Amino acid sequence: MPKFFIKTYGCQMNERDSEQVAHSLLERGYERAERETEADVVLLNTCSVRDMAEQKALGKMGMLGQIAKRRPETVFGFLGCMAQARGDSLFAAVPHLDLVVGTQKFHRVADYVGEALEKKRARRMDDPRFSICDTEEESGSAETIRDHELKERQATAFVSIMQGCNMHCTFCIVPRTRGGERSRSIDEIVREVRELVAAGVKEVTLLGQIVNLFGRHEFPLVDGKSPFVQLLEAVHAIDGLKRLRFTSPHPIGFRDDLLRALGDLPKLAEHVHLPLQSGSDRILKAMHRRYTADKYRSLVQRIRESRKEIAITTDVIVGFPGEDEDDYRRTRDFVEEIQFDNAFVFRYSTRQETAAASMPQLDERLKEERNQDLLKVVDASAQRINSRLVGHDLEVLCEGPSRTNKSRLMGRTRTNKIVVFAGEAQRASELVDIHIEEATGFSLYGTPVMPPSSVFA
Ligand code: SF4
Repeated sequence: MPKFFIKTYGCQMNERDSEQVAHSLLERGYERAERETEADVVLLNTCSVRDMAEQKALGKMGMLGQIAKRRPETVFGFLGCMAQARGDSLFAAVPHLDLVVGTQKFHRVADYVGEALEKKRARRMDDPRFSICDTEEESGSAETIRDHELKERQATAFVSIMQGCNMHCTFCIVPRTRGGERSRSIDEIVREVRELVAAGVKEVTLLGQIVNLFGRHEFPLVDGKSPFVQLLEAVHAIDGLKRLRFTSPHPIGFRDDLLRALGDLPKLAEHVHLPLQSGSDRILKAMHRRYTADKYRSLVQRIRESRKEIAITTDVIVGFPGEDEDDYRRTRDFVEEIQFDNAFVFRYSTRQETAAASMPQLDERLKEERNQDLLKVVDASAQRINSRLVGHDLEVLCEGPSRTNKSRLMGRTRTNKIVVFAGEAQRASELVDIHIEEATGFSLYGTPVMPPSSVFA
């Protein structure tokens, strides 16, 4: 059977979409290749959030031209956000490209791959329909990301609960690449999580571009609770599920019912990723974020009151068009004041066809200076918060061997901190108490706490 290789750029939603594509190919009998050089089908699932991500995928596909020369029957495809945004113009940029499949068509990829392989093998290269480009919208496509390819003893899984975004932040290309908000039904999501838990998964993360606004166009409030909180309650009730996470919420959708849920649903893990983007009200307005720094501050306070020891992480963009010294200073001071557990700091990257692309742009060097400066502030607070955990015993869900040191295991605390520790590979998917001995801004290191019975065993 033909072998396929998928490389994924970008966010967790892209990882999830790639898993769905892999599932549909495996279901048809294709095999997974370890490297692109061994594959009959090479797919790059792309990201458009920053220019660098697009350039990386284009550069990678360009390099794959070497394989195309040696093995012209190999099928090459771009999937996802860049495919959606650039469409069939990609065929001119990459001559050996066969497929361009957009974000609402992942469930069609296996058909298109089959068609392309058949035509290439039959050498019908002159067929004018040979290049396949499908970037149309398709209603119901959000429901098609629902199958998983679980590894042995897989502890955690992502579940895509909605697609798209209607918020139109002026820097963001997502509403263009992912379309308008479309949510899956609560019953379908619950069915998917039940199956994951039955297969041994202990922790589920619900995914959406603005996850806490799930279902607002499709489903009514019930007893004053938003569809998202109704979904959290339904998933929380599944026996065997140990931890529940969601990412990423928008601050404007973080209302009282969700704050109450943080206090009432113990399986909800103590971590919220709450994108800030800027600490300057002037820039937040220009970004069309629809909250002020003050509102964000009071939301953080209420989240911290709702759940003891909760970790809060964020995203910040520096160098947005028009950001002056005073705006940047406000962001820096705000990040320092909140003391985030961690933050992704991004240099603003111009995205064509977004409102911010036509605003006066800042010098790249200035953006880089602010980026480096803010990273130092973030690292210092992450280091400070993590070092307070040294000497404590923390519950860790073991995910398997550490990526950087295969002889060690890694897992995450309920607050989503990575912990590296010694142990046997079969502990994957176990909840283990770890005594923390060392901390950096990125990870914690420790030793399993022996249960009393094993001390005397
Ligand atoms: S909320 Fe804003 S930043 Fe997030 S996906 Fe939607 S438009 Fe983009």
